[in-house]
Amino acid sequence: MKRIFFDLDGTLAEWKEAGMRELKSRGYFLNLDPQTEILDFARKLAKKDNIEVYILSAFLTDCTALEDKNMWCDMKAPEIKNRNFVLNGTNKALSVMKILQKKSLTDEDILVDDYSKNLNEWKKYGGKAIKWLNGKNGRGLKFEGPRTGNVDELARLISSVA
Ligand SMILES: [Mg+2]
Repeated sequence: MKRIFFDLDGTLAEWKEAGMRELKSRGYFLNLDPQTEILDFARKLAKKDNIEVYILSAFLTDCTALEDKNMWCDMKAPEIKNRNFVLNGTNKALSVMKILQKKSLTDEDILVDDYSKNLNEWKKYGGKAIKWLNGKNGRGLKFEGPRTGNVDELARLISSVA
């Protein structure tokens, strides 16, 4: 069974440059604009039986970020029931392996994320990583692998996985 993990900030939600003070203010995450095309795609996928869709997002502590992110998902992506919120700075691959009680990831564990560090860690542990180009990232080449900012292409990349 394929599992697809979608990041929030800069992937399903807009990427917005902000200082720590703003990031930690109440409602900051709640007010991020959804990236409608990829969000609709993720919500549609979540209704399929042959695929499991997850939110996989990091949150800052000592503020309402976790609460805000949960509310954001309740409002914008109610179809996606599986939500993994991890502490900011956590290795996303390791946290998912722990949750799934697996020693490694496989090609059927797909991460869609805008952040090269997360993608590289995912790949290192055996998962399939796809870089989402949100119009602001992706200028460097810190991640070697598939990248797209187009939903049709993303669908092709996902279905090309064994
Ligand atoms: Mg992100």
